[in-house]
Amino acid sequence: MHVFILRGNFETLDAYVPRLFDLGARGLEEKDGEVWAYFPDRVELPLPGNWQELPDEDWLEAWKRDLEPAVAGPFVVLAPWHEWRGDGLTLVIEPGMAFGTGHHETTRMALEALAAREPAGKRVLDVGTGSGILAIAAARLGAEALGVDTDASVIPVARENARRNGVAPEFRVGSVEAADPPYDVIVANLYAELHAELASAYARLLAPGGQALLTGVLAEREEVVARAMEAEGFVPQSRCRDGDWVLLSYQR
Ligand code: SAM
Repeated sequence: MHVFILRGNFETLDAYVPRLFDLGARGLEEKDGEVWAYFPDRVELPLPGNWQELPDEDWLEAWKRDLEPAVAGPFVVLAPWHEWRGDGLTLVIEPGMAFGTGHHETTRMALEALAAREPAGKRVLDVGTGSGILAIAAARLGAEALGVDTDASVIPVARENARRNGVAPEFRVGSVEAADPPYDVIVANLYAELHAELASAYARLLAPGGQALLTGVLAEREEVVARAMEAEGFVPQSRCRDGDWVLLSYQR
């Protein structure tokens, strides 16, 4: 990845967006008075302004250096190169391989909600496991956990992350059909419309009294989830919000 930074003296990012995408940019960011443009290949930038190219290695190093441990409930999520001497139940997750480090609001809320259910000895299903972080967290707390994901490429990543943490939750390619009910807790970080589609499966997979912890939901879309879950007879239990995102929990 080649990163170019434009410093100072630009009006708004909007003026540059079409030109940069025409030149092959894959992403643009505006931060602290700078524009960062990400290109898969080296390009000559025939654009006005003070552009500086960040060498590949520096960029990777800077990203690694800037990645902070993330605290969520009793957990602290670390990259393999972090050294941590503080408190907290550590989760070591290789970042950049699959969605699910502690750096997204939804993952953090899911970790907190999961820990609050005290899952030791319970059966936990993680739908859309990504990096495996939620299944690994459940296993770290003593649960029997299964993580499923429709993207086969994340399964080896999740297994490797589990190994780093000294636990062995199970991981399977697939979705709700790959699970063996009954479960005490389902945790799923997907999106509102998909939760609505899966609501009847959540009802089928949970034991009576079991809990569904649903996130990945934008606050403006939460009604979609609420309608579908209540139509399946779920009782709303609690709601957490962090920025634009919510986590909704239900009891069967
Ligand atoms: N569980 C991790 C977390 O909380 O950070 C990762 C969540 S990531 C936002 C969503 C994951 O769900 C992706 O890995 C995606 O491949 C997977 N996914 C999408 N649709 C799915 C489905 N219908 N069933 C199972 N997994 C699905």
